[in-house]
Amino acid sequence: MLTAGWKSVSMVDVHGSVTFTLWLCGCNLKCPFCHNWRIAEGLNCFRLDGDQLLEDLEASAFMVDYFHVTGGEPLMQWRELGSLFAEVKLLDVPVSLNTNLTLIGPLEKLLAAGLVDHIATDLKAPPELYGLPEKPTEKLWKLFLRGLEVVSDHGIPLELRIPVAKEMNAWPHIEESLRRVETDFHVVLNPLVGGPLTNPRDESWCLEHCWPEGELLELKERLESLGIEVHLNGTILTMG
Ligand code: SF4
Repeated sequence: MLTAGWKSVSMVDVHGSVTFTLWLCGCNLKCPFCHNWRIAEGLNCFRLDGDQLLEDLEASAFMVDYFHVTGGEPLMQWRELGSLFAEVKLLDVPVSLNTNLTLIGPLEKLLAAGLVDHIATDLKAPPELYGLPEKPTEKLWKLFLRGLEVVSDHGIPLELRIPVAKEMNAWPHIEESLRRVETDFHVVLNPLVGGPLTNPRDESWCLEHCWPEGELLELKERLESLGIEVHLNGTILTMG
């Protein structure tokens, strides 16, 4: 597998949990706000040394809640990822996967094999945030909605991360997504930020849509009024 590296102990990749986090390369989307676009494009990546990774994980296992894989889009390398998850399971470490939920076939295979214990995903609303032309965007949005159903069917706990942009009409798509979630979940709101804090893929897009203002609190209040547990994040930068 192509990786950009791993971190043995992280407190910022899954809300309220300690993780051992691995970054995998490649992605099928082109989100303009993506601050991990180099990993998504496969730049500065190298072959994963699985033995070294498992050795490091075994040493840290006593203090981590999850082996968390993010990217990029980890399901781009799903076959090898499945084999790695099987080895991680032998160490008795729960597995968390950060995915954009658009690669449904691979997702179903890994979930059906019982290899994933927790899912994190971005609810990119509106789906123009995928950064792709209209037709593929429509298809990918339907796949994402199906992905939420697949996760729910397997009863996998879900961290639903919402990248909050300025001046985008997000609510109709957020509502449509929430109707598909029938598993234990909470929401993390990630205000999109630009330079100098991050290095987004499309700086001119970010000048227009990063640094949301009223949108953040308005969304928080709307979600809470539906009885949803919501966390505001100043640390996790959206990437999955
Ligand atoms: S934000 Fe996530 S899904 Fe979007 S391009 Fe970056 S890695 Fe891919």
